[in-house]
Amino acid sequence: MPSPEPLHPTAAPGENAILLHACCGPCSIMSVQRLRDLGLAPTLFFYNPNIHPLSEYLRRREGLLAVAQRMDTPVIFADEATDSGHPAESGPAAAHPGPWLAAMAELGAGMDDMKQRCPKCYDLRFVVAARVARSLGFARFTSTLLYSRYQNRKAILAAGERHAGPDLAFLPEDFRPGLLEGVRLSKEWGIYRQQYCGCLLSEYERYKRLLEQDKPAVNT
Ligand code: SF4
Repeated sequence: MPSPEPLHPTAAPGENAILLHACCGPCSIMSVQRLRDLGLAPTLFFYNPNIHPLSEYLRRREGLLAVAQRMDTPVIFADEATDSGHPAESGPAAAHPGPWLAAMAELGAGMDDMKQRCPKCYDLRFVVAARVARSLGFARFTSTLLYSRYQNRKAILAAGERHAGPDLAFLPEDFRPGLLEGVRLSKEWGIYRQQYCGCLLSEYERYKRLLEQDKPAVNT
């Protein structure tokens, strides 16, 4: 079966338009709904070089596309955009983990501390989301990261403010009240639901207990 075509914005953003940085399908459902309830018209934007490995990235990408189509919402995938001014952030290179690895390398051992690594991870995604929002003429942006109860909300809001400016507002909306309904709908629609935040370190933290349990006895 051929893959469904993604939906793209076809016109300049209207007055009520908002670019919604999206991390995955499940987090997007109620974020889109809430923005619409506020009278806004969201366009989804997927740029997440923090999702590893690539097979996981592709599953989340597919889930987002399914949500966009179900909800008739335009979606932009950085990994299929052409931007000669930013080749590392467009086309297939947009899925390369290099920017995330570089941000973590700056932290050294501090990368194991989520209070240090997650703000850098938000920054590297928001810098691109804000640039794309400005280049397409959006007056505001926000992120589905504000739907998750596991994310560092304070750090997300601070990152949003860092990348906003007089020409681009960051909307600090709290999408968490839609959490249960979002879970219900994502299950009903068969949208892929991930088991860890995204990066290799979060995957390690999610599954390391499997090594801690069932430890074989070692005789010394
Ligand atoms: S835990 Fe999540 S937010 Fe934090 S660095 Fe990893 S992918 Fe990014």
